[in-house]
Amino acid sequence: MSDTDPREIVLKGIGASPGICIGKAYLVDKEGVDVVKKYFVPKENLLNEKNRFKTAVKKARDNLHKVIEDTPEELRDHANILKTHVALLRDKMLYGKIIEIIEKEEVNAEWALRKVSADLQATFRKMADTYFRERATDIGQVSDLIMQNLMGTDHENIKDIDKRVILVAEDLSPAETSQIQLEKIMGFVTDRGGVTSHTGIIARTLEIPALLGIDRATSIIRNDDLIIVDGSTGELIIHPSEQTLVRFVKRRIEYEAHKAKIARGNHLPAKTSDGAVIHIMGNIELPEEVVSVKNYGGDGIGLYRTEFQYLSRSDFPSEDELSDKYRDVIEVMAPNPVTIRTLDINGDKAISRHPDSLEPNPALGLRGIRYCLKKPDVFRIQLRAILRAAAGFDNVRILFPMVSGEEEILEAKVILNEVADSLEKEGFNLSRNIKIGVMIEVPSAVIMADTISKEVDFLSIGTNDLIQYTLAIDRGNKEVAHLYQPLHPAIIRMLKRVSDAARENDVKVFMCGQMAGDPVYLPILLGLGIRELSMSPLGIPTIKHVIRQLKFEDTERFAESVLRQTTAEAIMKLLKDTYGDILFQKNNIQATDQQPQ
Ligand code: PEP
Ligand code: MG
Repeated sequence: MSDTDPREIVLKGIGASPGICIGKAYLVDKEGVDVVKKYFVPKENLLNEKNRFKTAVKKARDNLHKVIEDTPEELRDHANILKTHVALLRDKMLYGKIIEIIEKEEVNAEWALRKVSADLQATFRKMADTYFRERATDIGQVSDLIMQNLMGTDHENIKDIDKRVILVAEDLSPAETSQIQLEKIMGFVTDRGGVTSHTGIIARTLEIPALLGIDRATSIIRNDDLIIVDGSTGELIIHPSEQTLVRFVKRRIEYEAHKAKIARGNHLPAKTSDGAVIHIMGNIELPEEVVSVKNYGGDGIGLYRTEFQYLSRSDFPSEDELSDKYRDVIEVMAPNPVTIRTLDINGDKAISRHPDSLEPNPALGLRGIRYCLKKPDVFRIQLRAILRAAAGFDNVRILFPMVSGEEEILEAKVILNEVADSLEKEGFNLSRNIKIGVMIEVPSAVIMADTISKEVDFLSIGTNDLIQYTLAIDRGNKEVAHLYQPLHPAIIRMLKRVSDAARENDVKVFMCGQMAGDPVYLPILLGLGIRELSMSPLGIPTIKHVIRQLKFEDTERFAESVLRQTTAEAIMKLLKDTYGDILFQKNNIQATDQQPQ
């Protein structure tokens, strides 16, 4: 490197879509929308001002409809995301409030838009859950769209870029991302966004490397700068040195070869070398993710986190709306199972839209089944929607979250039966084959697993919360993240207890927490008798690939020695000594699930 060569800069962001790309940066222009001036509008012109705003919204809506129409085939299922943006355009919290501010404060539309959008984004950003915080991004994107129309500026049309480049933008909306031409755009980097943002989901579907949430990307990177994006590790390298370049070219080749090898086995069953079949399922948050589960070779949906449909809106979804969405998923997956978890809102997934209504200690508050039992009307609507959607199918399972003991299950089942009775009276021909299960994610449920097993058809272990509550580690708190230990002997013993209780009572035991999607834990989970694992779709191929290299009989013996260990460190050592070459391959794609962060 000569003295005049710019220095290599390494930044870390959120790896939203795995893979490595190396190429020239292309900054997507976003003219002027950040410079908004406030001015007062004379009373007699207020009607005009409101109309100007309404026209800008209409134009934004027309733009989005056009993008939806032009959406390429492989992204068809994501058109729903764009439809959410269309709906947001008319949301009372945004649209209604802006009209109100123009009127009351007698200000220009741009200023009202900027103010309302900023307040709303701030409210969402204060929420405990990543997913909710990222809904602020949706609001920002929709606001930008209206702003461009108000100010007569334009976002560069991504469709027209005709060089092979890596996009660098402050933000890319799902509408823009869905216009990416794969033969031109190698990957992208944005200042904003996170792993569960819709833009991230689209990048994963397109299978292009993407890094989001790199605060200063657009201020540091210049057009034509050579950059490296590693969407697997979250690294961004600007002006890489020759050594770095060589290292990443090698890594990219290895990664692609590994991915291709694993992809060849995507649709083969996950069978151990001695013939034990493990069912590998996908966790989804949005109905459109079903496609990824199928593409990556999932055997069904092990966890459908239904709470996400209650977001980006000011009202609760209707029974019909929910039922339609559930049916889409059930139909696409049939005959494979679809496990619909009833609302797990509040706690780390606050539904309330105002920070002052947040609970002081949400993780221990009115969440999961407690919320539903306290608000039976909300619960009933969801259960009716599930039962209606399941009619005519026999692949549906209902899963109750955050159960701490028997009473909650009995109460939930009473409501479920009442709902089924009333639907039958209304003439619905309901499915008779719906399986009922509970999440085992509260320590008391582990202790009571034998009793609980008598009331349900299956148990699904949610390790994200189980670890949080057992080890007293806030799953979202970075300060204690190092203490969040899936291999803590207490956790391993709990898994054993749940698995034994399930077997003795002849019910199935599954796992759908993050632990299920990390290959490192596989020998222990298999050895403890957990035969169904559910994870973020992206992790499915690697998990299947690793399972094929394990011998079930050995894992049983291995689990016994794991249970004799007294520290997480000792268990990890045992894993490395026994299975190191299989479990710790550096290109293994881990299923980064929602949580823990
Ligand atoms: C869990 O707690 O492990 C789980 C799967 O549920 P969630 O991450 O949605 O709380
Ligand atoms: Mg949970």
